[in-house]
Amino acid sequence: MPSPWNVIVIVALCLAALAALVLLVRHLRRRREVRVATAREDDARGTYAFVINPSKPGAEMARTFIREYCDEHHIVDPIILDTQLDKDGGVCAREALDRGAQVVVACGGDGTVRTVARTMAGSGLAMGIVPIGTGNLFARNIGIPVGNLNAAMAVATSRGSRTVDAGFVQMLDSRTPEYKHRFLIVAGAGFDADMIDDTDPRLKKSISWMAYFVGAVKHLFQQKAKGTVQFVDDTGETHRQPDLEFRTVMAGNCGQIPGFSLMPEARFDDGLLDFEMIDTSGGVIGWMSLFGDVVHQTVVKKAKGSPLSFNSTIEQFEGRQATLELEKPQTVQVDGDIIGKSRHLRFGIDPRALIVRVPELPEGDVTGVIQPIRETGQKPEVVG
Ligand SMILES: [Mg+2]
Repeated sequence: MPSPWNVIVIVALCLAALAALVLLVRHLRRRREVRVATAREDDARGTYAFVINPSKPGAEMARTFIREYCDEHHIVDPIILDTQLDKDGGVCAREALDRGAQVVVACGGDGTVRTVARTMAGSGLAMGIVPIGTGNLFARNIGIPVGNLNAAMAVATSRGSRTVDAGFVQMLDSRTPEYKHRFLIVAGAGFDADMIDDTDPRLKKSISWMAYFVGAVKHLFQQKAKGTVQFVDDTGETHRQPDLEFRTVMAGNCGQIPGFSLMPEARFDDGLLDFEMIDTSGGVIGWMSLFGDVVHQTVVKKAKGSPLSFNSTIEQFEGRQATLELEKPQTVQVDGDIIGKSRHLRFGIDPRALIVRVPELPEGDVTGVIQPIRETGQKPEVVG
């Protein structure tokens, strides 16, 4: 039997190896980002607008950096707009377009990106992202450098974009049933939204996304949602599931969160949403089993629960649309923003509606080679 000292030494060596691996991954990522920043071809010919969320801790530093970067890279007269309580990213982006902006860059967290995308989707013009939020999940999913302003600005202000799908939720029992609440990452109704609603924003600023766990605890044992779910698959066929009970229903455009994969098979450019219907039973054991499911699908990279789980289910379905008719109103969230409560919801997707400047282009995506703005002296239909 190994002595306690041997065990301590082995554990210490394992921790040191893990720390070295993390540092190596960070170093490689940083090198790649520097390479991206230096290899990009500046595109200073257009009118740029930057929509900044001033409530973010890094906002003032980002503002100064953006001004200096624009000066250095000959980006003339950038439009800089701040979001306000009654003027979100979407309103700022609309103002920027009205003032002649051809590229609108969202500088904030996922909320700012989501609201700017609401205006930019379908506009035919590109948006950029300079992540200064806490989660920055969409930026991470799409490969935009996080925590490196120089690399993020290099991506946002140089040519090379890809088209991505833009999800939406309609609250059919609201006063504006046709209004599309945009999302780029995940929207959901039930437990996930209640958890977000009960997460302290001050705690989120200090411990980032871990704060959601604190919010989750308050809702572990609440009543489940009940109702009918109707999915439309990729062929247009409808599948109706009545009398369902579940903790949460989520619709994902991309599904990676730090350390885990919520929806391993979600792709943000396949024109489909990945739906997940999650249920647990048996109190804490059910939630632990669900955690095991998430770890399992993160490891195997497949939308599939763990074979060891017995008190939790994750039903997954890929499709164009889902409609929920619920017995009681449930809290609804889009990319971490609460939009209210609803009993009648529709999740849908606008395929490839959004053009986003990214560091690496997929093969066959043509937006990156479209004529740069103003080269022909005319505003082009699509700006890469
Ligand atoms: Mg998809």
